[in-house]
Amino acid sequence: MNKYKLVAMDLDGTLTQHKSKLEPKNAELLRRLALKYDLVMVGAGSCSRIWEQMNRFDIDIIGNYGMQRSHVQNGDLIIDKSDCYTVDKDFFESTVSQLRQQTGYASYTGDSVEYHPSGAVTFPLIGTKAALKDKLLFDPSGEKRSAIYDKVASAFKDFNCFIGGTSSFDIVAKKYDKYSALIEYAKDKGFKKEEILFLGDDFKKGGNDEQVMQGGIDCVIVKDYNTLDALLIRRGIIEA
Ligand SMILES: [Mg+2]
Repeated sequence: MNKYKLVAMDLDGTLTQHKSKLEPKNAELLRRLALKYDLVMVGAGSCSRIWEQMNRFDIDIIGNYGMQRSHVQNGDLIIDKSDCYTVDKDFFESTVSQLRQQTGYASYTGDSVEYHPSGAVTFPLIGTKAALKDKLLFDPSGEKRSAIYDKVASAFKDFNCFIGGTSSFDIVAKKYDKYSALIEYAKDKGFKKEEILFLGDDFKKGGNDEQVMQGGIDCVIVKDYNTLDALLIRRGIIEA
């Protein structure tokens, strides 16, 4: 037995390919984990998007870096929390346009900036309408975005800026990040910080799991979602 009671996890790159459906193998792994632990998904996307990507799996979800929270009841997604705020679109348009010039990402397909109903903003380097295959090929290791992260983050210094998705930056209000959201959830559910184990794939500077590790929660670094089961067996989280 180990000390963990709550297994929290990222979705894209941890349990699935980016923006792709949860495959049967990792759905089965989640069912095995659920026999031993409480589970919560901590994602960058909205709860409903995450839930659909997981084929409507029965799991609590923290969405949009903590702006949303949901649970599943009788097969329905129940939204328990949904924060929203408005942003100054002129500021985002002009800042993104300057950043595109400074960084050389001047051409894009679709829109230059994406505004979500929550207030979260996405800066998609190759545009909102770029094909998924182009997005997946653009920056698989995150190097291109890491190279300009400081510039982008400082242009949006009043916000939190994350290397998100496949080819974009997520920009959200300062109080939202996966660590704060997870601690709030754990407190509400009666779990101590040391009873949480987090599974993620993006702990680098600017990565959207970075704060969870910096905050001192035990983390498992997932390098390949296809071999997550073997990794969790090696780490003693589940049995072989
Ligand atoms: Mg990820």
